[in-house]
Order: sequence, then structure tokens, then C-alpha cells
Amino acid sequence: MRYRRFEKPVLWELPFFVGIFLSLGTFSIGGSSEAEAQEKTTAQETAELYGWPYVAGHLGLAREEIVFPKVAGYQVLKGDFHIHTIYSDGQVLPETRVWEAWRDGLDILSITDHPEYQRMAFPEDPGRAYERAKPLAEALGVMLIRGAELTTLSSSSYMPTDSDYVVNFIDDEAAFYSDFDTAIQSARDQGATIIWAHPGPNWVPDAEALLKKGWLDGIELRNSHWIGGKGTHYYRRVSLFKDVMDWCLENDLAVFAVSDAHWPIDQMVDKAQGQRRDMTLILAKQANPQGVREAIKQRRTLAYFEEMLWGKEKWLRALAESSLELKVTPTAQSGRRRHFLGVTNRSSFPFQIQFAVETSEVLHRSREFRLRPNTTTMLPFSAKKKVGNLKLTIRVTNLLSGTDRPLVLEREVSVPGPAT
Ligand SMILES: [Zn+2]
Repeated sequence: MRYRRFEKPVLWELPFFVGIFLSLGTFSIGGSSEAEAQEKTTAQETAELYGWPYVAGHLGLAREEIVFPKVAGYQVLKGDFHIHTIYSDGQVLPETRVWEAWRDGLDILSITDHPEYQRMAFPEDPGRAYERAKPLAEALGVMLIRGAELTTLSSSSYMPTDSDYVVNFIDDEAAFYSDFDTAIQSARDQGATIIWAHPGPNWVPDAEALLKKGWLDGIELRNSHWIGGKGTHYYRRVSLFKDVMDWCLENDLAVFAVSDAHWPIDQMVDKAQGQRRDMTLILAKQANPQGVREAIKQRRTLAYFEEMLWGKEKWLRALAESSLELKVTPTAQSGRRRHFLGVTNRSSFPFQIQFAVETSEVLHRSREFRLRPNTTTMLPFSAKKKVGNLKLTIRVTNLLSGTDRPLVLEREVSVPGPAT
């Protein structure tokens, strides 16, 4: 391939020479279509030769595998359902978004450029981001979901409240180049899921209208582009849309954490400090777009950000039960009340746990323990009684189904008596 130019010319190469001849001959009148065709062929050949985008060959590029055991029989998939590229107001290529998602351990990526406004770099080519990203996503095994972000700024009937809605699982953007009502109707007709983007602090009329019609599927509890922005609050020094978890539970909606990245992810996440990007966990029956859509429709999602997981208590509990294995190890000396609770964390998530002293049969000051991924941690405790069954109540302080609503696990463990 490299020395092809030195081989005998073959028939299909003739246009190359004809092209040169014609372009020389017609130079004065501004080139020819043959020359353009030749230029195209050459660009295509170059792409084939070097395999553009050629970061594929970059040494040391590695994916972080973020692992969770099956939760209540469902696979745990990790996704970003709201992100931008140069095809609207983002600053990176669609292909870069795929590489980032792969590297960051995501299974699902939905590029959601604005089709109806803010088409900046490529105003003439909307919808192309998906087509560009698809081959690379397929090669890397990242599930690419076609999406868009619609705004009520183009609304014909509502007050312009500047609220945005992410629509995933669409198949055509063409109908979105119009007013909001037409666009959202079309998204619905295409079978899209509809997520209220960067919401709060109050319900806006258009979100209420969508909710009333049963069209709203979810809300963003956390959006990393809006940290500290309008509608957010700080809880434990982490910015989020404070009331969203309650709204999701009251109205049976899915909860989301998204990047909404406009810049490279590395400008938002400090990976050197071990930080992970924000993501949504999907509890899916199948690892395919139908499976992911079904999980969202059935509200089996969890929001993962800043070492916290937020969502329905039922799913938090199932995830903790499948990830954590608890076993008491008695102290070697008989008759002692001092023991260890060994907790094995079989996931990539760092759980934070604490004995609830007031409801446990343990005497222990209530400090928090961090359970590192894929590690067994020995937690010392003093039992109220010497032998027999012991009731332990454990608070998982970074699994939350609302503000100040950590998951509580109750376990009965057996403390063996002294050896005879
Ligand atoms: Zn956005």
C-alpha cells in the first residue's frame, strides 16, 4: 500500500492522471469536478492509510472498568445521556466524546446537540454528530444512543422560561428544526424518553404540562456543567438540584446524573485525584438500546456523582446487598467482647458506612468507614453481649434516597462463644 504509487498504474488510477491534465488545462477558469473527485479520493486514501482518527494507536490509552455485580438480576450499565459536540455549542469532535466515554468506563453515550439553535461550527450539517461517532462507538463497544436537547425558547404556546429537555432514543432530527411544541411532539412520536435538563428550583409550566401528559420520564438531579448554577444547592459540599430526588419519588420519574459537557471531560474532572465523571447507572435486562430504554421507562436508574449514589431506596438496597458481604470475625481470645465486622466490597464503588449505635447491639463511637473497591475492610466493634446473635444496624452514608435519607441495612450476625 505504501509503495503503490511506484507500481504499474491500473485502470482505476487513470482519473488521477486525467484529473491532473484537466486541472492544468482548466486552471484559468477555476478547476474542475474531476480534480475535486481526485482530491476526495486522496483524502479517503489518506484516512484509510492512517486510520483517522488516529488516536486509536496512542500507546497507553486505557479504559477504567467500573464494575458492579448484578443487582436484583439486572446488569448495571453506566451512561452519559447529555453531552455536546462541535455540532452545536460544544468544543470537541463527536469521535472524542466516544473515546472519552470508553476511557471513563461508560457503556452508553447519548450525544445531545441542539438541533434547532446554537448550531455554531457546522450550522449546515445537523445530526451529523451521531453518524460520525457511530463507527468508532461500534468498534469500541460503546452503545451510542441518538439524542438531542430541545429548548422552550422556541415555544409557540408556553412562556419562554428557557428550560431544556433532553430526548434520547430518537431516529431523526429533521422535525426538531421548528418550535418546541412541534419538536417535543415529534420526539414523543419517535419513541424518545424525555428528561428535564438542569431543572429547578421550581416546577416550570412546560415541565408540569409534560408531567401531566405522562410524557416526562426523568429529571437531572446533577448536571456537571451547572455546578453552582441556577437552581442548584450545596449538600455536603456537593452541588445538585436539591428537590429533584423528592420530585422523582413523588411522580415516579427516573433520576439522572449527566455531564452536559461542552468542553473536554478532562477540564471538568480531576482524574489524577481519582475523580470519576458523573454518570447514570441503568439496571437493564439487556445490554442494548431496547434494554436501556425499558429500564428508563421502568425508572430503574441511579445517579452517580462525587462518590454518592442517589435513587429509589429499593434499587440502592439491592445494589448494596449484592455488592457488600458482611462477616463477623471474633477476637481470638475467648470471652472478649471486641470483634471485627469484615465487609467485602465486590464493586468499584467506594461505600461509606457507619454503625448506627443507637439501634445496634454494639458499643462503638459512630465513626465512618470507607470501603475501598474490591477490598475487605475490618471494622472493629465492641458487642453489648458476650455471645449469641447480635443485631447490627448500618447506615450507608453515601447511598441516598433524598437529603439526609441514607440507606439503612439491618443484619443479624452470630458471635461465637469461647472455644471449649
Ligand atoms: Zn446541554
